[in-house]
Amino acid sequence: PYDVLVVGGGPAGAAAAIYAARKGIRTGLVAERFGGQVMDTVGIENFISVPYTEGPKLSASLEQHVKEYGVDIITDQRAAGLSRDGLVKLDLESGANLSGRSVVLATGARWRPLGVPGEEEYRTKGVAYCPHCDGPFFKGRDVAVIGGGNSGIEAAIDLAGIVKHVTVLEFADTLRADEVLVRKARSMDNIDIIVNAQTTEITGDGNKVNGLTYTDRETGDSKQLELAGVFVQIGLVPNTEFLEHSSLEMNRIGEIAIDERGATSMPGVYAAGDATTVPYKQIVISMGAGATAALGAFDYLIRSSVS
Ligand code: FAD
Repeated sequence: PYDVLVVGGGPAGAAAAIYAARKGIRTGLVAERFGGQVMDTVGIENFISVPYTEGPKLSASLEQHVKEYGVDIITDQRAAGLSRDGLVKLDLESGANLSGRSVVLATGARWRPLGVPGEEEYRTKGVAYCPHCDGPFFKGRDVAVIGGGNSGIEAAIDLAGIVKHVTVLEFADTLRADEVLVRKARSMDNIDIIVNAQTTEITGDGNKVNGLTYTDRETGDSKQLELAGVFVQIGLVPNTEFLEHSSLEMNRIGEIAIDERGATSMPGVYAAGDATTVPYKQIVISMGAGATAALGAFDYLIRSSVS
């Protein structure tokens, strides 16, 4: 068995693997794809001390850094289940399994896509999912936020301080966000909120987004908005489906519950990054959490009798 088996090769998994390997213990990292969401990112301007980088470049550096240590890297493998019987056992979809005296789960998350024409085509060309990441790229322009839950209204308030104008489109007839957020958004004069709006297409000029069309669900009319950007805020889904049959404690939306050391409800199992209940999902935050989880796992190992 590995001393620390890391599941996931994004910023959290890479940081966990490096921190574990630097303790001189046997470390493995299994991931479907090295780099995680960073591979889907173009410009990154908030990775502190690096004013600008790009996703594939940062991913390559993460991988290179992990490879400087004797970490066993296994890619193109998906985890399918987790159980514990003294050792922690990870089943893979291929039918094989791996085991660790401790495990760090860092399988990240994915943004729930809207699923309308234009969304895939203009992803990173005006279609965005992360206001902290991409908001400043739309300075002085008009944008829409799709989704009137807490994340949508928070995004609208955040973006309204940077962009010229924000239109919020909510499918239902009411906003699901907390009243205090809705009140704040309504008080800002560059935010418009439209309910009963079903977005039907994100349009563009072939290179970048130029607007969207939506159906007014009350009248059935089709309407158009001219925009430079569309932020889709209809949910971030943790990649934790494979833990469904484990006894690991998760919240309502499937995020893994952790404490301040990254420990989960299962002894020897730690977790970090976007797959967890951590409130903010960012690269620097995930890296810090990965380091925390690996140190937590190491503390567990030196106290444990499992060998
Ligand atoms: P992830 O990066 O999601 O990595 C998860 C890893 O787990 C991957 O290796 C994946 O292949 C693997 N995996 C998943 N499921 C399984 C499984 N069942 N079995 C095995 N492996 C599995 N943050 C910023 O700070 N700045 C930005 O500018 C920024 N821009 C972004 C732009 C976009 C388009 C997106 C989508 C996100 C952006 N983010 C940005 C957020 C940032 O990418 C994430 O917070 C960060 O990548 C989370 O790291 P993580 O390691 O927890 O998970």
